[in-house]
Parts: sequence; structure tokens; C-alpha cells
Amino acid sequence: MDRIAIIGAGASGVMAALIAKNDHNIIDLYDKNDCIGKKIRVSGNGKCNISNANISKYDYFGNNLDFLEYGLKEFNYKRFEKFCNDLGLYLVEKDEGKVYPLSFESNSVIKIFYEKIKEKGINLRLSQEIVSVKKSDKKFILENSEKKISLYDKVLISSGSKAASKLGGSSFSEDVAKYFGHTIYQIYPSLVQLETKEKKVSKMAGVKIEAKVTLLSKEYKSISTLGDVLFAKYGLSGFAVLDISFYVSKLLLKNKEVTISIDMLPQYDRAKLQSILSKTCKNNQESSLEIMLLGLLPYKIVKNISLELGFINKKLKELSIKDIKKIVQMIKDSRFCIIDTHGFEYAEVCGGGIDTFEINPKTMESKLVNNLYFSGESLDIVGKRGGYNFAFAWMSGYLAGKSLKG
Ligand SMILES: Cc1cc2nc3c(=O)[nH]c(=O)nc-3n(C[C@H](O)[C@H](O)[C@H](O)COP(=O)(O)OP(=O)(O)OC[C@H]3O[C@@H](n4cnc5c(N)ncnc54)[C@H](O)[C@@H]3O)c2cc1C
Repeated sequence: MDRIAIIGAGASGVMAALIAKNDHNIIDLYDKNDCIGKKIRVSGNGKCNISNANISKYDYFGNNLDFLEYGLKEFNYKRFEKFCNDLGLYLVEKDEGKVYPLSFESNSVIKIFYEKIKEKGINLRLSQEIVSVKKSDKKFILENSEKKISLYDKVLISSGSKAASKLGGSSFSEDVAKYFGHTIYQIYPSLVQLETKEKKVSKMAGVKIEAKVTLLSKEYKSISTLGDVLFAKYGLSGFAVLDISFYVSKLLLKNKEVTISIDMLPQYDRAKLQSILSKTCKNNQESSLEIMLLGLLPYKIVKNISLELGFINKKLKELSIKDIKKIVQMIKDSRFCIIDTHGFEYAEVCGGGIDTFEINPKTMESKLVNNLYFSGESLDIVGKRGGYNFAFAWMSGYLAGKSLKG
């Protein structure tokens, strides 16, 4: 009877345990948290963006995207949906293929998985942190934080990445992989807020706009994202910023200076905006710049533009064409120097991780150590925002589970 340890009861570990369990094996599913799936709980702001219905390898970043090809066929969205439906969990597809539980509650997903774990006879070992995994002869030796030793025939490391340590993020997978001789690509925060050099952002803290964010870099030409930008005390947040953060974070790793440009009114091109402003100036000559811009942008941004351009006391009749061009420039191309990401603590995911050339793409087993497996975010695969990261966690957990079952 095989004794199997699965370390990490997040999406990939839970999936692997449910697939692997049969009457001929014993499965211990460990997590240092006191519950399963803490990251599932907070995902999609509690609504749980559990997967995406339109996935290809191009929705991911990593040094070996061909690694995904087998899994995307073997456990595509339809297979995942069927798996969920068989548990009584029904899903709904929303914009851009994003998939949610029909209840729109992450808690329902966690409860359903938890019940299934118990029903299948998987031993859930919560509040147990594993501190080391070693191997002697054919057995793996696991040690927990209370120095208790347990022996296993097979081990899956599904302990995720070090993003969001408050939710269980840790570098354990990296430590184990290194111990067994695996190569690690440098790990960096992704889907993360960005810190700016400019202090002016703090004056606009709390303001949210729909904007276009463009990365100005030779390496990544014309990378732009469209969506929410939220100004914060430290810098910039919001979906458009998170979406571009992968590229920014990679450049910061190379100590490159990173500049981004924010177009605060992407719905108008420069010519259109200039004509709108000129027309407003003409029709409201005694009015101020602030009043003119308030019809277009939130107050804190307007105030910042007037202050920066030194136009705070100017009447519209005093603005020249050149002045209007300067205003257009500030609205359409406001530049920010990014000095850092907001860090692993605030990141939703991590890029980098265990080299997937050293992992069997069909089974998630290490090519260096028999019966040692890795799944989910521990690997050098990171997805875009929109359910892709869970999709990879489920998929890799499924493949690992199938192979662990034997
Ligand atoms: C705030 C937030 C929101 C997110 N929203 C989405 C979303 O909407 N859609 C999406 O696709 N992705 C989202 N993600 C990303 C997604 O949560 C992860 O990609 C996914 O959870 C990875 O699954 P995993 O099983 O590899 O790792 P995890 O889910 O991180 O699970 C790893 C588990 O291992 C445990 N662990 C770690 N070290 C040890 C140890 N030494 N001993 C025992 N246990 C250990 C941890 O406690 C954790 O429970 C979000 C992430 C965050 C932080």
C-alpha cells in the first residue's frame, strides 16, 4: 500500500489528492494553514474566478511554454467543468472567458472540496508545516515543525509560491527543489502593485480611473493594458497596472529603470482632446482650468495637473494653444518611474520557479528524483489575470494525481 504525502492543500494539492486517492493508497494532505484553499477563498474578491474557458499556452509566461501542451489537452476546461459538475459544483462563464462558481461564492467551492476530501478518506493534516523533505533509499522522510518524522513512498510538493505569505505563501517548494538538485529560475512578484518615484501619486491616493497603461521599454515594445488604474500612497494599483506588472517586474530584476506612461483619457485621441479643450476654453473664457477639467477627470487628478503646469490661477481665456497642448500631453502621456513592485506580500502570484524542463509534463514527476512531484505555482509557469493561474493549478494537480495513483 503506497503512502503518499501531498504538501500544500491549495488548488493543485486538493485536486491531486482527490484524483490520486484509491483503496490501495494512504494519502496525507498537509497544510500549514488551519483550512484548505486560503487563496481560493480570497480569489475574485470572494467570488472565486476559478478558471478560464479559453486557455492556450500563450496565456502564460515561463521559459518552457511547450510544457503546457499535454496538460491543456488532457485536462482542458471541459474536463475541469465535468470534474466540478460531478462534485455538484456548477460553473458560469462571464466576460473574457472568466469562470466562476454559479454561487459566486468561494466558500462554497472550499466546502464542496473539503467534504469530498473527507468522504474519500484522505487524511487532512491541517496546521502542520513541513520543514524538510529528504530521501533515503526508497523512502521520503518528511519532518514537520514539531520535529515529527514520517515516511512516504511518493511526495507531491504543491506548496505554491511565496506570493501572499499571510495566505500561506512560502518558498518551501523552492527549498525542496534546490535540495534535490533542481534548477530554479529567479522568482519575482507578478500581478502586483507598483511603487513610483514620483511623490505626486500620494496626492491622488484613492482615485480610480479607466486608463491605458503603456510600458516604455526596448525589451517589450508596445505592451499596453487597458482598465482600472488606482492611485495609492506608494504608487499605482488597479487591474491595468497588475496586468502590466509581469513585464515591469522582470525588467526590475535586471536593474533596469522602468518608465510607464498613463493615458488618462484613452477614449479620445490627442486631436479630439485638443479640440474639446479648445472649444471649452472658447465657450467659458472666465472659467478656470480646474472647472474645465472636472468635466473629464476626477478632482484630485485635475488639481495635480493644474499644480504641475502652474496654471492654478489661470483663466481659460489666458490659455494659449501651447498651454492646451501641454494639458493634452499630461493627460495622454503622464509618465511614472517605477522603482519597485509592492513586493511578494501583496503579489497575487510569482513568476519564475522550478525549471519545467526537469519535470515530466505528463505526470509532473521530477526527472531527477523518482516519485517526487511538483505542481501548481511552484513551477516556472505563471498566468495572466483571469482564472489562468487556478487553471494551471487544477491541471497540474490533476496530472500529478493521476500519476501518484499509479
Ligand atoms: C489575493 C489573491 C487573489 C487571487 N485571485 C485569483 C483569481 O481570481 N484567479 C486565479 O486564477 N488565480 C488567483 N490567484 C492566484 C492563485 O490563488 C494561485 O495561482 C493558486 O492558488 C496556486 O495554487 P497552488 O495550489 O499552486 O498553491 P496555493 O494555492 O498557494 O497552495 C499552497 C498551499 O501550501 C501551503 N504551504 C506552503 N508551504 C507549506 C509547508 N511548508 N508546509 C505545509 N503547507 C505549506 C500553503 O499554506 C497553501 O495553502 C490569486 C492569488 C491571490 C494571493
